Amino acid sequence: MTNERKGVHVAKGDITLDAIQQAIPHWIHDTRKDESSVTGEVFLPGCKCSSCGYHSNMEKERCPHCGAIMRKIKGVY
Ligand SMILES: [Zn+2]
Repeated sequence: MTNERKGVHVAKGDITLDAIQQAIPHWIHDTRKDESSVTGEVFLPGCKCSSCGYHSNMEKERCPHCGAIMRKIKGVY
């Protein structure tokens, strides 16, 4: 009796919404600690491409470096 395959379980449908969101190119905004802000930090206009890491001084529709079309995920920063 061989049980060597037991315990090996690959869940194939295990792609979460989280993973999908991470796959969508978007700008990651710079933040800076600021104690006068309610959240304790402020968002700077500068942002970074989640796809290639290119840093821009403002949001653009497409990443000038890798050409990824940026999606704005409103309310989720
Ligand atoms: Zn890019």
